Amino acid sequence: MSAVADGLAGLGAWYAERGRHALPWRRTRDAWAVFVSEVMLQQTQVDRVRPYWERWMARWPTVAELAAAPAAEAIREWAGLGYNSRALHLHRAAQAVVERHGGRFPVEERAIRTLPGAGEYTAAAVACFAGGARTIVADTNIARVLARAALGVASQREASAAAVRAAGEALLPHEGARDHNLALMDLGAIVCTPRAPECDGCPLVAACAWRAAGYPAAVMAPKTAARFETTARFARGRIIDALRAGPRPEHELRESLPAAHAVKLHDYLAALAKEGLVVRAGDGWALPH
Ligand code: SF4
Repeated sequence: MSAVADGLAGLGAWYAERGRHALPWRRTRDAWAVFVSEVMLQQTQVDRVRPYWERWMARWPTVAELAAAPAAEAIREWAGLGYNSRALHLHRAAQAVVERHGGRFPVEERAIRTLPGAGEYTAAAVACFAGGARTIVADTNIARVLARAALGVASQREASAAAVRAAGEALLPHEGARDHNLALMDLGAIVCTPRAPECDGCPLVAACAWRAAGYPAAVMAPKTAARFETTARFARGRIIDALRAGPRPEHELRESLPAAHAVKLHDYLAALAKEGLVVRAGDGWALPH
């Protein structure tokens, strides 16, 4: 571990030169703005998130403004980003912050953790990036760098989450945790990529345990993803897309789905209603008010 700690000396200079400083959510310490970016980034790539984040923040620059808007508007604004429940989480989080914190978004990790849509990672990210908290922010990029450089394995899937976390905590500096985490995150996104790490340009090259061990291959088989059109996520997205234009009778929703999904329409609607993404409207369905 200490070899990697020594190798961190070059990380700051690398980050100053190659870090993604222009990302708009990196240029603010506003916790609401950072939270919105982190929720959007949970399952979506940076390039796709950027225009959505800019539109969202222009429309609802404060927590109070989103809290006062209908949930349906948040879901409409989310069109095309996928995993629509995230829009609802943001809306519910905004309402919770108004109720519990008078509209001031918290920067304490424990308080953020209680908000809808804020898991362990998101709470740590907001506390660190907006509040400067000294905490490990182990997103997939950081976890991969830690797994390779400190633990000597091909990816975080080859190590326990506890081991990756312990490696991250051992390397966390006493000062400058924000830049440290952002630098590791960018290193994973730009240099230490999943399939083709560019070790020659890596500031950790002399200290990397995976490289020193001769790049042992992954033991765990890669996950195989089902074809998107066969998934419930596809059908749920179709239903929400149809409702974005306004309330729809059930037969129209059924017609919007391929046959294999149409027979499960009631199951999909029941699950969406339970999550609060759709509500009954007469003999049909609508987005929540
Ligand atoms: S030396 Fe290579 S494998 Fe190791 S952290 Fe750097 S880019 Fe990743």
